Amino acid sequence: GVECRDISLSYGKTQVLKNLNISIEPGEFFALLGPSGSGKSTLLRLIAGFNQHSSGQLLVDGKDVTGIPPWKRNIGMVFQSYALWPHMTVFDNVAFGLVERKVPRAELRERTEAALALVGLSQYAKRRPNELSGGQQQRVALARTIVIEPQVLLLDEPLSNLDKKLRVQMRRELLALQRRLGITTIFVTHDQEEAMTTADRMAVLDHGVVQQIGSPNNLFDFPVNRFVANFVGTMN
Ligand code: ATP
Ligand code: MG
Repeated sequence: GVECRDISLSYGKTQVLKNLNISIEPGEFFALLGPSGSGKSTLLRLIAGFNQHSSGQLLVDGKDVTGIPPWKRNIGMVFQSYALWPHMTVFDNVAFGLVERKVPRAELRERTEAALALVGLSQYAKRRPNELSGGQQQRVALARTIVIEPQVLLLDEPLSNLDKKLRVQMRRELLALQRRLGITTIFVTHDQEEAMTTADRMAVLDHGVVQQIGSPNNLFDFPVNRFVANFVGTMN
């Protein structure tokens, strides 16, 4: 699991995360919901190790990971603006993390093919990113992260570039995959429906402050304030 204990983070003089307490259980699918600028990406980057907190504690599977660089944390992150290597094929983009980890060739091939099949891109293995649609590129980014079988999966709006139909389909597949692998997953979205239909539990964030944490039903039925009620749709 992932535990944020009283975490605060500032960019210069601006405090972006304020005394955050969130405890995510092992194997849980946890959604982070909040408006633009509320600190969702900042929190994911912190868990991945790209940001440092100014106070508090961050534990991953019970271990304080403060000071451990991103590449030594077994955490996979799909960024909001996913960057694929333009000069490499889809296959090589997905396999990259396995090459870095010196995974033997046969295993690399098998795992890369499995990851591509998972996102429905087996036929696209030899293409380059600029020969794919935005949604297909997003799926490559997802495959590239899943292939390393991370301990924790951080997804920053991984479905935002997809059309509605594909989005719903990918959402279902992502959840099935997460269940199968049992990876602790934090899923950032500003789409309340997406959070409500996928998450075991969710947190609503506003201006770097956790407003409420609970199951989707719990937040919908018993919002603690107007902001949460508005945001999860109780008042619509
Ligand atoms: P969105 O839904 O638009 O992606 P978000 O919830 O992910 O928003 P963040 O990207 O975490 O929001 O940003 C939170 C706040 O921190 C914003 O006010 C943003 O302007 C500020 N911020 C983000 N990155 C930096 C940075 N590198 N330097 C200074 N301020 C930053
Ligand atoms: Mg963001």
